[in-house]
Amino acid sequence: PAAVGVMGGGQLGRMFVHAAQTLGFEVVVLDPDANSPAGAAAQTQIQTAYLDAGGLAELARRCVAITTEFENVPAEALKTLAQQRPVAPSGEAVAVCQDRAAEKAHFAGCGVPCAPYAVIAMAEQLAAVDEALLPGILKTARLGYDGKGQVRVRSRAELEQAWAELKQAPCVLEQMLPLEREISVIVARSAAGEIVHFPVQQNLHRDGILALTQVPAPDVSAALQQEAVACARRIAESLNYVGVLCVEFFVLRDGRLVANEMAPRPHNSGHYSIDACDLSQFDCQLRAMTGLPLVQPRLHSPCAMVNLLGDLWFDDQGRQRTPAWDQLLALPGVHLHLYGKTEARAGRKMGHLTLTAATAEQALATANRAAALLGLPGF
Ligand code: ATP
Ligand code: MG
Ligand code: MG
Repeated sequence: PAAVGVMGGGQLGRMFVHAAQTLGFEVVVLDPDANSPAGAAAQTQIQTAYLDAGGLAELARRCVAITTEFENVPAEALKTLAQQRPVAPSGEAVAVCQDRAAEKAHFAGCGVPCAPYAVIAMAEQLAAVDEALLPGILKTARLGYDGKGQVRVRSRAELEQAWAELKQAPCVLEQMLPLEREISVIVARSAAGEIVHFPVQQNLHRDGILALTQVPAPDVSAALQQEAVACARRIAESLNYVGVLCVEFFVLRDGRLVANEMAPRPHNSGHYSIDACDLSQFDCQLRAMTGLPLVQPRLHSPCAMVNLLGDLWFDDQGRQRTPAWDQLLALPGVHLHLYGKTEARAGRKMGHLTLTAATAEQALATANRAAALLGLPGF
């Protein structure tokens, strides 16, 4: 059987492995970590650094096409692989997504609004920052995720402090926007330029980490949903993007839609698609990278997705425990996904639950029963 390759061995890679194996592909994972969730599910893991020439050569030799699941895989590694095999998404597209300044410039180039911002490369620039950007959020241009690498600042003094704390340049200072809610859109595009999209996802974050996704988005008008999908498609097309791309948006209190950031891969807010759509985001990633037909996915069940963070693996006294899966599995329409991570840590994504139901209200009600069983605050 043909093999496909994936750079990165996290949970996104693991779910991609499952989708690829379903269609009879073998999967080769490249990840330096011997205990990677995707490596454990794949036929083969190449355990080298992402830029190791030998590891990249072996991945290219074994695979008919290569993708990435890890946002911060060096774009150079993808460019090297692309000299030998189709790589989707391209190193060039991934490089834009890895840099908040380049990403925002790209949004603007597509006519998609984003938060007012300034790029700060040196401490000397802090004093000259436009007062209108405060209060704001200072974010490292690279490598941030789950709210790490960003600090909220109310004043110029706090901005100076945050800059010293982050110790990374360049940074982007964004104006703090009045959010009504957050949504995301996932699109998949083939090398031939076919493009499909998933329905708009409504996302609730807690402590900077995605906690709940609801589809269909319960509180977003049809017109705004159409606008978000159109923006995501435009962003993918103008990157000449191949693969799965997720764009996160804010809906502001005045009703305006603003792009936040994008991810050059399947996204946590799209995990529901495994259980609630006739084609998942991982199926689309496989199809896009291998040139198999891309078909518009259809949501067949209203659903809610709840992230399972490592905190659930500890009791009030900090002793390790296993959550009560048997009680959860007794709920209707529960789909439990555990990523096989060997070590639980607070804030670490260990798994997720998708609740499917006949109606969106029922899916949310079951999510609330699940939250109560897990000891999580309700939604
Ligand atoms: P991810 O894990 O999604 O990659 P991240 O660490 O890259 O997250 P962002 O998505 O930039 O971080 O921000 C995290 C969250 O902080 C957002 O989902 C939103 O709730 C809030 N946030 C970010 N930027 C702003 C802003 N300009 N105004 C108001 N809230 C914001
Ligand atoms: Mg991010
Ligand atoms: Mg984000």
